[in-house]
Amino acid sequence: MAKEKHEDKKVRTARIIRALEKLYPDAHCALTHSNAFELLVATILSAQCTDARVNMVTPVLFKKYPTAEALAKAPQEDVEKIIKTTGFFRSKAKSIRETSADIVQKHGGKVPQTMDELTDLRGVGRKTANVVLGNAFDQNVGVVVDTHVGRLSRRLALTVHEDPVDVEQDLMKLVPVEKWTNFSHLLIFHGRQICFARNPQCDKCPLLPDCPTGQTLTQAAAKAKPK
Ligand code: SF4
Repeated sequence: MAKEKHEDKKVRTARIIRALEKLYPDAHCALTHSNAFELLVATILSAQCTDARVNMVTPVLFKKYPTAEALAKAPQEDVEKIIKTTGFFRSKAKSIRETSADIVQKHGGKVPQTMDELTDLRGVGRKTANVVLGNAFDQNVGVVVDTHVGRLSRRLALTVHEDPVDVEQDLMKLVPVEKWTNFSHLLIFHGRQICFARNPQCDKCPLLPDCPTGQTLTQAAAKAKPK
């Protein structure tokens, strides 16, 4: 198959975005939060864990420790106990306490609003910073690449990369900047509802005409059907 030109891929990406926006007009960040601090902590807890599980834990955590000041001073063991079911609870408890301490010491208790300041906080990487900037501060600074976004981007041939940083760079060249935050939500919604990791439902997917993987899979399935 001939290599797709960048301009053609951009046009195809625009069609994919339109189809997903139609399918998921209410796509949004699934982590429950009422401010930037809560979203930052919830995002750290969501590593290797479902958003639904994180949402079960955070109301208890924020009721007891509602601010960066409070969480920075919280006993490690108590935080571990509250967040235990999110997995990797010792390192996550350490991370959210250290991040809170940095927010207090370096930013007077307020979550900073730039990529450099956010990624300078202990426990905060580019993905977490992108989630906070995009959803709490309405800044499209990058594209959040989680497991769904990575998988779907490869299936849709928007990238060939595995590394989330490389995937993000490819997506930033294809998706209009004002859509970066919502594009992640759209792919995450689609990954949860149709384009499953194990058994993508290509026959129900409106992206099929623009998806090389879906076309290969449906052609193989049609050939394998008994005549
Ligand atoms: Fe996923 Fe199949 Fe849809 Fe492609 S056509 S996005 S592989 S469900």
